[in-house]
Amino acid sequence: MQKVLTGGCLCGNIRFEAVNPVNPHTCSCGICQKHTGSLTAMWFEFSANDVKWMGEGGEPAKFRSSDDSSRAFCPCCGSSVGAIDEMATIALLAGGFDDLHDPALSPEYHSFVEMAPSWWRSLSDDFQRGDESEQAMERQ
Ligand SMILES: [Zn+2]
Ligand SMILES: [Zn+2]
Repeated sequence: MQKVLTGGCLCGNIRFEAVNPVNPHTCSCGICQKHTGSLTAMWFEFSANDVKWMGEGGEPAKFRSSDDSSRAFCPCCGSSVGAIDEMATIALLAGGFDDLHDPALSPEYHSFVEMAPSWWRSLSDDFQRGDESEQAMERQ
C-alpha cells in the first residue's frame, strides 16, 4: 500500500507530498549538524519521482554541500527542508512532516554516531541502534 506523507517549511512557501519513504534514519554528521542547527537530524529518503513540490515556492532553494548532493531550504523563512542528490534520491528532514506518529516511521539506524558529543549520545537510546553509514556516506 502506498504511504503518502505531507509536510513543508515553517512559513508554508515550500510544501511537499512524498510517497513511500525508505531508509528512515538519524544522522549526526557535521554537514547535517550545520544544515539543521541540530546535533542530530532525522531523514526519510524517497525516489525523486515520488516527491512533488506543492507550495507556492515550488522547489526549495539549494546549497551545494558535496559533489553528490545539495542541501535544500526555503528561501523565505530559511527552514532546512532536505537534501537533493545528483542521483535519483531526495531526502527530506523529518521535522518538516505534518504527521509522523505511525510507528513504522521510526528510524532504523543512526549514521555518524561518533560525531555527536558524548553528552548528547547519552540522552537517547537511538544512538544504540548502531552506525550503518553506507547510505549516509553517499550523502556527504
Ligand atoms: Zn518557508
Ligand atoms: Zn548527515
